[in-house]
Amino acid sequence: MEHGGKSSAGQKCEEVLQSPSQHDNSLSDLKVLSPMTKTVKSTAPKLKRVYTDKTLKIIFALSRNECAHPDCSKPIISPATAYSGDLVVGQIAHIYALNGNGPRSKVGLTQSQLNQPSNLILLCPTDHVIVDGQHETYPASMLIEWKSRHEMKFANALSRSISDVGAPELEVAAKSLMSSKFSPAPGSLLTVPPQAKIVKNGLGSSSELFLSMGAAKSHEVEVVLLKASQLDADFPDRLREGFVLKYQTARQAGYVGDELFAEVLDWATGGSQATEIRKAAGICVLAHLFIICDVFEK
Ligand SMILES: [Zn+2]
Repeated sequence: MEHGGKSSAGQKCEEVLQSPSQHDNSLSDLKVLSPMTKTVKSTAPKLKRVYTDKTLKIIFALSRNECAHPDCSKPIISPATAYSGDLVVGQIAHIYALNGNGPRSKVGLTQSQLNQPSNLILLCPTDHVIVDGQHETYPASMLIEWKSRHEMKFANALSRSISDVGAPELEVAAKSLMSSKFSPAPGSLLTVPPQAKIVKNGLGSSSELFLSMGAAKSHEVEVVLLKASQLDADFPDRLREGFVLKYQTARQAGYVGDELFAEVLDWATGGSQATEIRKAAGICVLAHLFIICDVFEK
């Protein structure tokens, strides 16, 4: 998902989905029959669909490549064929509309809040048109329920992968994440930014989901690190250092909160080519480092 999300599919997402004109205009064109659009001429500045790369990654990752309508399993991304690249067919729907005359509008939300993953739901084109066009039948509470059920499917699948993770997978993941550059200078581990601890409170539900699920294997990670340190005393420190370097690079690149977490998560799960179990093992190692090691620091 990372690869597809960023280099090819992600760019297409931005072209297809981020275009401020496409859905908004087509929807308002369709809405000429709605009495609201005829009578209300809003003076408020028009808010735009602006999604960060990370927001796209988060919502695409949680979608499991399926429309979020509970009775629909149409794909969000049509896979590449021998003749064509992959294609984003799904559309990003806003639970609360971006603008006052849109479907399910709610006053008092900023453009940034409205474009957060929590307000976005990925649907196939047909269901997007239906939920927006017949929004009285599809209120926000219903879409929130769909989104939550849909993401629970993702969580359940991840939970199954995590339960299959054993010491060998954790070892492979940990080895690939440790830094080769570690120099055991005293105090270097204290460079973990204090924000890493705050993150527990500052993260949104998607990040917390990964942390809480990965933490289920924290004890196993600890055992693996202990064994590895008997062969290579620096191993846990180098792993920690690898994490710190990635964290700092992401922070310097301007990432915060969920986006920062998603950036580190991409790295920890080994990229799009990684197997499900390798990804799950990476999540376990990351959760251990985020939650447990910070505590150890004290
Ligand atoms: Zn659908």
